[in-house]
Amino acid sequence: MSKIEMKTPLVEMDGDEMTRIIWQIIKDELICPYLDLKTEYYDLGLTHRDETGDQVTIDSAEATKRLGVAVKCATITPNAQRVEEYHLHQMWKSPNGTIRSMLDGTIFRAPIVVKGIEPVVKCWKRPITIARHGYGDVYKNVEYRVPGAGKAELVFTDTEGHEERRLIHDFDQPGVIQGMHNVDSSIEGFAHSCFEYALSTHQDLWFASKDTISKIYDHRFKDIFADMYENEYRERFEAAGITYFYTLIDDAVARIMKSEGGFIWACKNYDGDVMSDMLSSAFGSLAMMTSVLVSPHGQYEYEAAHGTVQRHYYKYLRGEETSTNSVATIFAWTGALAKRGELDGTPELVDFAKRLEHATVKTIEDGRMTGDLARITTLENPTKLNTRDFILAIRDELEAGV
Ligand code: NAD
Repeated sequence: MSKIEMKTPLVEMDGDEMTRIIWQIIKDELICPYLDLKTEYYDLGLTHRDETGDQVTIDSAEATKRLGVAVKCATITPNAQRVEEYHLHQMWKSPNGTIRSMLDGTIFRAPIVVKGIEPVVKCWKRPITIARHGYGDVYKNVEYRVPGAGKAELVFTDTEGHEERRLIHDFDQPGVIQGMHNVDSSIEGFAHSCFEYALSTHQDLWFASKDTISKIYDHRFKDIFADMYENEYRERFEAAGITYFYTLIDDAVARIMKSEGGFIWACKNYDGDVMSDMLSSAFGSLAMMTSVLVSPHGQYEYEAAHGTVQRHYYKYLRGEETSTNSVATIFAWTGALAKRGELDGTPELVDFAKRLEHATVKTIEDGRMTGDLARITTLENPTKLNTRDFILAIRDELEAGV
């Protein structure tokens, strides 16, 4: 059988620990036998990041800007213990943080829905994707503990020295105050990413904030989304048969609990932080979640939402059997391959990615799964497979469907 050709290489960002082991097995068993795989390889494993003074992380983000689509393995963000363990020159920054700030992106996370791993919310039939704005608000706040009676004011001084003042509160006792900000360019980038992602995944887009209470701050988000939709996206959305819908955050939460799913929920930074954890736990597991960073300039970085599964790696090093769930990492690869195929106009590549996803889901639905899922499945008598055998079972399924 001849292998499927690729036109443009993917940016391949290798990583650490158990996910690095899985990465290689996925390539060897599920991708290279079927695909003439082309990648520009960057080793983001901690040892190599340290050897290159973290330059490799920057290079991989630059390559993503150039080539457009990347696939990333989970990586260690070092802490003091890791500095000792890996004899690091420094406590390097989170590679995800470096890449996100260079690509200026929004993170989209969606559960991978399979029969037998049922959402806690019974009416959810299709995945709900969270789009989280990654800049500002409470994550870049300034706080002050008010010690006693006194007046708190918001003061803005423009570049000419003119002052604008607003009274926050006349304190007659101790209390607290907090200053937050956001900038138009970041909100616009967030909105662009959300509209583009809705078009590329063919799903409705919801956005919610608290503009009735926050009449300037949250209202600015609402206005930027609304203006951009009218001026740049309405026609394309209508042509694609999808909708943009704005509502209050409390109304959005109430509607989501009664919805069937199948849409993108754009959230401000804090809302996205809280709601993505609620969704992932309600849908089953972090290892059953896709994650993609989308830049407003149309670059895509696909990854697994979970970490390097350190505990399993130490078992693996001791020669013990592991049962690590590779689904999110497989879907990082299929997401990147399908996007590459879509951009390059190579439908065979898109089709291969879809078949691999289908084979993965079918393997689980037929009752063959890793330990984390075997513990929560509603299927009777599931077969718990080890890390490698689960991937080989997917390969059998893929072969059967070829
Ligand atoms: P983790 O996601 O690796 O593990 C958290 C828990 O979930 C563990 O109990 C683990 O056994 C379980 N788990 C996660 N993924 C699983 C899978 N695929 N199969 C089975 N069980 C799974 O997070 P952690 O233990 O907090 O962190 C380990 C390392 O990962 C740290 O060094 C951290 O810096 C890094 N990390 C990387 C990323 C990333 O690159 N995207 C994200 C989070 C954490």
